[in-house]
Amino acid sequence: MSDPYDRSHNLPMLGISQPTRSEVLTLPDIHVSHHPVVQCKLTTLRDKRTLPPEFYRLVKELGVLLAYEATSLLPIQPSPIETPLEPTIGSQLLGDIAIVPVLRAGLGMAAGVRQVLPDAQIWHLGVRRDEHTLRPVEYYNQLARAKNLRVGFIVDPMLATGGSAIDACDILRRLPVPHVIYIALIAAPYGVRNLRKAHPHVPIYVAAIDERLDERGYICPGLGDAGDRQFNTL
Ligand code: URA
Repeated sequence: MSDPYDRSHNLPMLGISQPTRSEVLTLPDIHVSHHPVVQCKLTTLRDKRTLPPEFYRLVKELGVLLAYEATSLLPIQPSPIETPLEPTIGSQLLGDIAIVPVLRAGLGMAAGVRQVLPDAQIWHLGVRRDEHTLRPVEYYNQLARAKNLRVGFIVDPMLATGGSAIDACDILRRLPVPHVIYIALIAAPYGVRNLRKAHPHVPIYVAAIDERLDERGYICPGLGDAGDRQFNTL
C-alpha cells in the first residue's frame, strides 16, 4: 500500500529554520492544557491504531474540554430569573458568539465547542493549504453576512505553519469581531510563533505544542492528517 504521507517530491519546509518548543512557550497568551484527561485523550488520538470513529469522537471530546478552558474569561452579565422558590440573579454570556470551524478538519472540534456554547453561531470557513507553498487558499467564506459578533472562536485541530490561522484571524478582525480566540489540538512551534506575531492579541489554546514541522509541513510527532483521520479518507 502506498504511504499517504509520502510527499517526498514536495518539501516546502526543507531548510526553513523553526523555533524550539521552549522558545514559544514563553510567548504571551499561549495556553497549553495540563489537564490529565486532555493529555490521555490526546495520546489515544495520536496513536496510529485509533480508527476514524474513535478518532472523531475524541476530537469532539477534546473540543469540549479545550472550549471549557478557552471560555473561562468570557464576560457575563446579570440575568434575573425566578427559581421555583424565589427570584434570584443569575448570569448570561454577554454578546453574540461565533464558532468558526476551519473546513474540514475543524468540524469535529466545532461540534465539541458547540456543546459548551449551544447558542453560538457557526460560521464555516474553507481555507486549505496549498501543498506546494503551504500558503492558505480560501475557498468558502460566508462570514460577510455575520453581524455584531462580540467573540469568535476559530477552531482547527492542527496549528502547523499558521497560514490558515492567520488568514482566519484576519477575516474575523476585518468584520470586525472585537475578541478572537484560537483553539487547536496540537501546534507546531513555527505556527505558534507566526500566529503570535501576526495577531498578538489572539489568545491561543492548545492541548499540546509539539517539536517541529517535518519537511512536508506535518507536525511531529503530531497525529498525521487530522481531516483524513476524522473522515476516514486516508
Ligand atoms: N494538518 C494536519 O492534518 N496534520 C499536520 O500534521 C499538519 C497539518
